[in-house]
Amino acid sequence: MTTTTTATPDERTAVLPRVDDAVAAARSSTGAWAGLTAARRRHHLLQWKREMYRTRDEIRAILRDEAGKVHFDATLELTMALHHLDWAARSAGRVLAPERVRPGMMMLDHETSIERRPYGVVGVIGPWNYPVYTPLGSISYALAAGNAVVFTPSEYATCAAEWLGRTFADATGLDDVFRVVPGGPAAGCALTSSDVDKVAFTGSAATGRLVMAACAERLIPVVMELGGKDAAIVADDADISAAVDAILWGATMNAGQSCAGIERVYVVEEVADEFTRILTERARDLRAGVDYGAMTMERQAGIVARHIGAAVADGGRALVGGPQSVRGRLVDPVILADVPEESVAARDETFGPTLIVAVVPDVATAIVRANAVDTGLGGAVFSRRRGRQIARGLGVGMVAINDVVSFGATPALPFGGRGASGFGRIHGVDGLREFTYPVAVSRRRALHLPSRASTHRRHAWDVPSLHALLCLVGRR
Ligand code: NAD
Repeated sequence: MTTTTTATPDERTAVLPRVDDAVAAARSSTGAWAGLTAARRRHHLLQWKREMYRTRDEIRAILRDEAGKVHFDATLELTMALHHLDWAARSAGRVLAPERVRPGMMMLDHETSIERRPYGVVGVIGPWNYPVYTPLGSISYALAAGNAVVFTPSEYATCAAEWLGRTFADATGLDDVFRVVPGGPAAGCALTSSDVDKVAFTGSAATGRLVMAACAERLIPVVMELGGKDAAIVADDADISAAVDAILWGATMNAGQSCAGIERVYVVEEVADEFTRILTERARDLRAGVDYGAMTMERQAGIVARHIGAAVADGGRALVGGPQSVRGRLVDPVILADVPEESVAARDETFGPTLIVAVVPDVATAIVRANAVDTGLGGAVFSRRRGRQIARGLGVGMVAINDVVSFGATPALPFGGRGASGFGRIHGVDGLREFTYPVAVSRRRALHLPSRASTHRRHAWDVPSLHALLCLVGRR
């Protein structure tokens, strides 16, 4: 996990006019964008998706040069991002259509419904680890719900963000509906105090606190997508070879720079030797720069080196690799064992291709230890027969059974965590609703009948009939 970056007052002053201009331009477009039919918005968003697909080589090169990704990781990221945009564009009309609800016994002569309206302008602040997929998780769903969006990317993801803005404008001809303002922390900071109606933040918990405090000043709602320290549990009835493959991938994909990557594994003792033997064999075959890319920046590799050092200093053993695995921005896989639970390496997000293996006597102990951190983003369970049951014990927002992070590639599933991993959801029905507010509409149908509930004019039978209703409601 990276440390919080705060902008200097001078940096903030410099970027403020650009952010304010972008928000004002976005604001000017909200009426027209929200006023389009869902089908028309879908058309624009699908055109954008096709433009992103058409220019896929451009973004893959950016992801390689700016983020350090290998071709497979860049292609996977783009595929997932387009899959979500496609789903959001096609589903918004259905998901956000006015919903009729029953009026209940007290309001029988009313027709009642819920309408979901866009907030207006949503400010999106993004991280650097998945420069396309992660911010698009908020941007696609906010746009599909009828909002205009102003996006301030990480200072390490500027080129990718500019590509997002450029492709949107080229595909739709709508320059103001989606605006990108590069400028890192200073721009993010300015965005939180600008005239936006909601903020969707993805990043570290430390920055999240600052963002929430700024939004509290303006009393605007926030979505918090923060970090994790996700664990996998391997039960005695797991397919061990398949579990090793998935967990090793979950720990090292994108060089371990995944919020919902696997950083710890709790394996029950009956299968621990077999699991550890296969895991170490396969991990030794993986190479940074070949099987996965470089760390995006040297600073992040430094955090990974510090965690490896702390794990060993606290009594842990390196089964594969060690401090020497950090070669500048390239970090080969590191498998650690016997790391005390209170070590910083076992508690804090490492965000690198490292994995801590802990042997436990049973699944119940695995669940307790998996839950013994303050984050609760995702998790994974490997068991042929008890996957769902074990998964229910994990205090997380997302769980994969006999796989890892698969929930992130399914647009219909909500994405987000609990505890220090944040709150609110992107993706899926919840993700679309997150970028709208509900309006309760109650329409009195029978205008010719006097409404007894909302007038001071009473008939003799009003009081007994109200008492009868009270009995009916209270007793049933
Ligand atoms: P970060 O907190 O350092 O920065 C995130 C964003 O906030 C950047 O755009 C940055 O410029 C901006 N920012 C910095 N200071 C700010 C301030 N005072 N006000 C407003 N904005 C400010 O995080 P990062 O290093 O870019 O991202 C890595 C973190 O993001 C990891 O913890 C990772 O787990 C998390 N993450 C979470 C998810 C998720 O969906 N839950 C997805 C990807 C990454």
